[in-house]
Amino acid sequence: MALAYEPTGVPALNLRAQYRAIRDEIEPVVREVMETQGFVMGPEVAGLEAEIAEFSGAAHAVGCASGTDALLLPLMAIDLGPGDEVVTTPYTFFATGGSIWRTGARPVFVDIEPDTYNIDPAAVEAAITERTRAIIPVHLYGQTADMDPIRAIAERHGLMVLEDAAQAIGAGYRGRRAGALGTAAAFSFYPSKNLGGFGDGGMVTTDDPVLARRIARLRVHGMEPKYHHHEVGINSRLDALQAAVLRVKLRHLDEWTAARREAADRYRDLFAAEGLDAMVKLPVERPGNVHVYNQFVVRVPAAIRDDLRRRLTDRKIGTEIYYPIPLHLQPCFASLGYRAGDLPVTEAAARETIALPIYPELSEAEQRYVVGAIHQFLHERAHPSLFAA
Ligand SMILES: *Cc1c(COP(=O)(O)O)cnc(C)c1O
Repeated sequence: MALAYEPTGVPALNLRAQYRAIRDEIEPVVREVMETQGFVMGPEVAGLEAEIAEFSGAAHAVGCASGTDALLLPLMAIDLGPGDEVVTTPYTFFATGGSIWRTGARPVFVDIEPDTYNIDPAAVEAAITERTRAIIPVHLYGQTADMDPIRAIAERHGLMVLEDAAQAIGAGYRGRRAGALGTAAAFSFYPSKNLGGFGDGGMVTTDDPVLARRIARLRVHGMEPKYHHHEVGINSRLDALQAAVLRVKLRHLDEWTAARREAADRYRDLFAAEGLDAMVKLPVERPGNVHVYNQFVVRVPAAIRDDLRRRLTDRKIGTEIYYPIPLHLQPCFASLGYRAGDLPVTEAAARETIALPIYPELSEAEQRYVVGAIHQFLHERAHPSLFAA
């Protein structure tokens, strides 16, 4: 008699499972880089740049050291600086706001849409001033922001649109992919992203050849050719080892994305079957979008969110809060003058959301275990009226 597999825990993500599945493809390419002893930039990086450009539908791609630098470099390339403003979302990883601040410009945080958690185009429009130079929409959790209205605002005011696509490689918007939806886009290859390296890495995509060339120069100290410095850039090169690993993984990305989407559908079915979909708000995928589920983020009443998380931790289920403190309320940005209550949709999301385990190898048994634990907790603790107005 076959024994049914009963999970005793579910990690938030499972990079070891992915590595085991592709180890035989990875090891030879890593060995090859070690044999050549060419560690920084070189043919593997150029190869990855060409492949990411093609994958995302952009004309050019420029590798760099991190997703953070992939945000910073395009802003440097438009000479952003003191006196300038960039409109963005406060409900994101810190790098989005930090990269604006690093240039000396002022981040202008505007509120999000309550269902997708992405920047609200109407709020963007309302925040444009004479000083605005760029808009940074973030494709949060793997779903693109509503790019058509954002691009229209940018065109009217002559602004750069820089997609923060760190969580959204392969995501679709009205038939096009993240990375080809604005002036430029930033990707991250941090290990937890959908295309993750064996360390840090990033890439900028753009259709603009002049911008691409400037970014490529800025990532090597503004140098072109060797030892001729036209401007002061940064050191943000991509390693050959990372590029070699990422090229192998890129061949699997579409299949991994499909598996993430299947896992998301299974969560929906399981929550519905347990009658929990009224108590637990599930991710909304907008028509015309292809969500790539870097995260599967659900929403529960603020009064029970942290207790739910503790319960799931007790059951050895990995969760995370993305993000508990919105950027406009971070201490380092206090001088910008925002107060609690200024961006209420964002602040409610920060209190009510919780990310559940999701990765391509996630099994139905693991998902049943997660949903079962949530069911049990809600059965004991919660009541629909806890959802505050
Ligand atoms: C991960 C991430 C970044 C930064 O990427 P790094 O490679 O870690 O520097 C930027 N923005 C968002 C939304 C991210 O999730």
